[in-house]
Amino acid sequence: MRLLIFVLLIFGLLPAAAHAQADCGIVNAVDFPVDRSLFQLMQDYAAPSPRHQGRWHTGEDYSAGPGLTLGQPVRAIAVGRVTYASPIGWGRDGGVVIIEHTLPDGSIVYSQYGHMMETDSIRFPGVLACVNAGQVIGAVGDIRPAPHLHFEIRVNQPDTPGPGYTPDVPDTLGWRTPSAFVLNWRVWLGELHRWHVSLPAPLTTAPLIYPDGSVLIASSDNRVRYALPDGRILWRVILDAEPTLLSWSDAGPVVTMADGAAWTLGADGAVIDRRSGAAAANVSVGEGALLLAADGSRYLLTPGNPALLSKGPADAEPLWRVGLPGVRGAVNLSADPTGRALIVSAASGQVLVIRAETGEVCGQMLFYGNGRGLVWHELGADGTLRVALGDQVTGMDWARLTAGCGL
Ligand SMILES: [Zn+2]
Repeated sequence: MRLLIFVLLIFGLLPAAAHAQADCGIVNAVDFPVDRSLFQLMQDYAAPSPRHQGRWHTGEDYSAGPGLTLGQPVRAIAVGRVTYASPIGWGRDGGVVIIEHTLPDGSIVYSQYGHMMETDSIRFPGVLACVNAGQVIGAVGDIRPAPHLHFEIRVNQPDTPGPGYTPDVPDTLGWRTPSAFVLNWRVWLGELHRWHVSLPAPLTTAPLIYPDGSVLIASSDNRVRYALPDGRILWRVILDAEPTLLSWSDAGPVVTMADGAAWTLGADGAVIDRRSGAAAANVSVGEGALLLAADGSRYLLTPGNPALLSKGPADAEPLWRVGLPGVRGAVNLSADPTGRALIVSAASGQVLVIRAETGEVCGQMLFYGNGRGLVWHELGADGTLRVALGDQVTGMDWARLTAGCGL
């Protein structure tokens, strides 16, 4: 029977690939391939490796520590179709499984799991098989220099185990940051998500929100893009230099660039006015933030060892102090219109809602953030909390995010 199927496949009589893909379903949940309470990130994506002549790492390496990693189960990050599976895919460096995933927007990505082995109870899935999110697809293998999982996300090479390291920046060759994919899609597939825009380059300044909820976004690839309220990009403008500020004028939105030039844009993205100018001074993003609330309360977000302090109306002892574990880099601090909730967003990925009265964290989301670059948020009158972080902007349902806050 197996031989018959093989022969039918060879002669194209079974349209297996196309149908199997449709049958395997659309991604509706995503998670890490290993238990993040046990496994630590040991080598980051795009890190240059001294062991490999300074070439760039195409994935993220995870280990649970000596003696605890070997044989641990590895799970499919999402529903998908297996496009490659071999216990000797990397020779002495272990087995490889590659899974194809179809995202809700129709795009395709591949997750690769390397340095794996089979055990008596854990077998690799077959090529063309459908796998479910969280299904065990292998075990961490016994490889040099110590057992670990190599986890990749990429947009090409469905049936070739990747090289592990590349001579060029992996993003330019089709690889993506694995934890950014997992963390951001976890938010985008969740019930708080209203819309999002994913960009090929990091944002350089706060987006401009139009009255109808559409958004103008500036990024370091010298582009501004106009996104409709549902996140679809309608038009983009190619600039001469990096955009540093978006602002409104009577004539329309104005893009100011690093070389000092300022372009006014029409409703369709046409440049209706160009002014050159002196280069603007660099604006440095502070690490701390001070918020003066309407009732005179002062809230201070301290850098270094991040913590949010409430000082109350008078310059008295703090009424409360809440630690912000994991928060790094630039932060934003604002209050909701009632003044009863504080909103913190951080370049390290956290979005926190804190009860102003007590300091209790009552709502939170986690995006991918490496602690560098811009972070921005704004709570709109339409009940959407918009957050710009890294190379994406997401609109979230404020009422759902703060369901536990008793506002
Ligand atoms: Zn690796």
